[in-house]
Amino acid sequence: MGVEEKLPSGVLLSTVEGLLGYMRKGSVWPATFGLACCAIEMMAFGGPRHDSARFGMEVFRASPRQADLMIVAGRVSQKMAPVLRQIYDQMASPKWVLSMGVCASSGGMFNNYAIVQGVDHVVPVDVYLPGCPPRPEMLIDAILKLHEQIQQSKLGAHKVAADAQAEQRALEA
Ligand code: SF4
Repeated sequence: MGVEEKLPSGVLLSTVEGLLGYMRKGSVWPATFGLACCAIEMMAFGGPRHDSARFGMEVFRASPRQADLMIVAGRVSQKMAPVLRQIYDQMASPKWVLSMGVCASSGGMFNNYAIVQGVDHVVPVDVYLPGCPPRPEMLIDAILKLHEQIQQSKLGAHKVAADAQAEQRALEA
């Protein structure tokens, strides 16, 4: 009997996925931009006190083509929405989105015509972080939850579905 018959089906692929997930979660590079007051807390996360280098994240990238995490830090105005989507489209896959604060996640106190009532109308969101503003420690907790998602994600599968869902929501909005 060959080795293939002795091993459970898919064992090699699951090992590769696990290894890739381990490496990806330790080298997530966020795009550099902030939209409102939540961005101040995000900047504090990047400083020496909270030490984002522990997670391999000290490299905030000015170019979306070199980033794979979008932290939506603050309310999203209707004018900014197409710009935000363009930045997301320019990021290389696999990529992730963290909605930071109640304004980014649901519009928050800005229940009016000028503000998008949840950034998931524009891009697919992987982690929602509540608070106004969330403290850097809360952002770290959200990032660790994102790490769990990255570690467990199947190669290529979920972002295709998420993108299709976001496009559908954008069409309905
Ligand atoms: Fe500002 Fe609070 Fe909204 Fe964050 S959640 S953008 S801190 S008002």
